Amino acid sequence: MNTVNGGISFWYAQEGTPAPREPLPGDTTADVCVVGGGYTGLWTAYYLKKAVPFLNIIVLEGKFCGYGASGRNGGWLYNGIAGRDRYAKAHGHDAAVRLQRAMNDTVTEVIETAAAEKIDADIHRGGVLEVAYTPAQLERLKAYHSVDVAFGETDRRLLGARETADRVRVTGAVGSTWTPHGARVHPVKLVRGLAATAEALGVTIHESTPVTEIRPKHAITPYGTVRAPYVLRCTEGFTAGIKGHKRTWLPMNSSMIVTDPLPASLWDDIGWTGRETLGDMAHAYMYAQRTADDRIALGGRGIPYRYGSATDNDGRTRPATVDALRDVLVRLFPRLAGTGIAHAWSGVLGVPRDWCATVTLDRSTGLGWAGGYVGSGVATANLAARTLRDLIQQDSGQSGPTDLTTLPWVNHKVRSWEPEPLRWLGVHALYAAYRAADRREATARTATTDRIATLADRVSGRH
Ligand SMILES: Cc1cc2nc3c(=O)[nH]c(=O)nc-3n(C[C@H](O)[C@H](O)[C@H](O)COP(=O)(O)OP(=O)(O)OC[C@H]3O[C@@H](n4cnc5c(N)ncnc54)[C@H](O)[C@@H]3O)c2cc1C
Repeated sequence: MNTVNGGISFWYAQEGTPAPREPLPGDTTADVCVVGGGYTGLWTAYYLKKAVPFLNIIVLEGKFCGYGASGRNGGWLYNGIAGRDRYAKAHGHDAAVRLQRAMNDTVTEVIETAAAEKIDADIHRGGVLEVAYTPAQLERLKAYHSVDVAFGETDRRLLGARETADRVRVTGAVGSTWTPHGARVHPVKLVRGLAATAEALGVTIHESTPVTEIRPKHAITPYGTVRAPYVLRCTEGFTAGIKGHKRTWLPMNSSMIVTDPLPASLWDDIGWTGRETLGDMAHAYMYAQRTADDRIALGGRGIPYRYGSATDNDGRTRPATVDALRDVLVRLFPRLAGTGIAHAWSGVLGVPRDWCATVTLDRSTGLGWAGGYVGSGVATANLAARTLRDLIQQDSGQSGPTDLTTLPWVNHKVRSWEPEPLRWLGVHALYAAYRAADRREATARTATTDRIATLADRVSGRH
């Protein structure tokens, strides 16, 4: 069977693209204007409306809700947050522990809220399993495990080769870690359910309405301007498309493939009955899930970055990337060599210059934003949204500081990315270095992380 390429994502091929909502009919006003209809924007609108039902909230979405990463991701709802270790250095260990605990709670919050709102998103809480299959990966796995435990994840477990195989039989796996703070989701079912829920509460959503410029109290579109005391930018990997934001967050590509449904005989071989989300410890790491209809969806970095912060062509993916992801799949499960790849697609995520996610409300202008989640935004977007709600309530005098507004990622400032061609050269060199390091580690006998990867981390500002 031929592999479908692009078409936004497999998740949309399964669910169908939604009927469009009306664009902005002209100039108007609101109490809060949210720019971007992904998880961040929609959760924010949802929580604000729940907290203050009389608020007039308008969401402006350039295409349709879930067009971006929220409709294309790997469906790992998990407790990772970009920048925790850096926040620990800047704000102290205890502050980072609070951030980690908030992320752990966020996984439960999403699951419970989806259930309460009757959003059926194929959620299965099987935890997160991350496997190592080289000596260097195993060393890194153990080191990360110790750090995660020190940050308060005491329920995380280090598993040997046999225990790993009891869960998922990844060829050559020598160990793994498992944490309960993770669940598999169907990304589109979640984002679509969220949009419908927010709308049913009374949030107004305008689609096909790209915001070209954001100014204090103004969101400007080709169809008119929304004036609002609070304007929130929730555009993640697409942020470079807004006037003045070319170098704010770098749009990084991530690509995915999904297999045809696998027969029971193959699942007998593979195991994976717990439906954990599955990752590895390679530098150019992969992430995977067993879908509700028994396929494997697997992702990784393809072409990591396109020149000039170009973002998207409805998810079309280079054939070489599809082949590379298939090689990763077969490396994990050799019996899948003959399995059909039903669909391949890509999307963009937002990467700040210091690789730290952030949520901010500038009290002097009423401008807010959240994102820069790098590859960990499915759960983080929910924490960001609840934090934006609290920041707005605090700013408008309805409440004081909360447990969320005092987390260390709030109001974090970071410098812009370098101009081109440095941006393009830097990111390509980084991922070439990671791939080279993975190749060298695959044949090395030592357990040390390859020097190239360590150097790349340091030069890129990633660690
Ligand atoms: C292939 C892939 C796999 C991933 N896998 C995972 C995973 O398994 N787990 C995980 O935690 N994270 C994952 N991520 C990251 C995660 O999906 C994102 O961090 C998260 O969805 C971000 O949500 P968001 O709402 O901030 O951004 P988005 O979902 O990108 O939403 C932004 C929205 O803003 C709209 N928009 C953009 N510009 C404008 C404008 N000017 N005017 C109006 N609207 C605009 C876009 O159309 C889009 O709908 C993955 C990302 C990708 C691309």
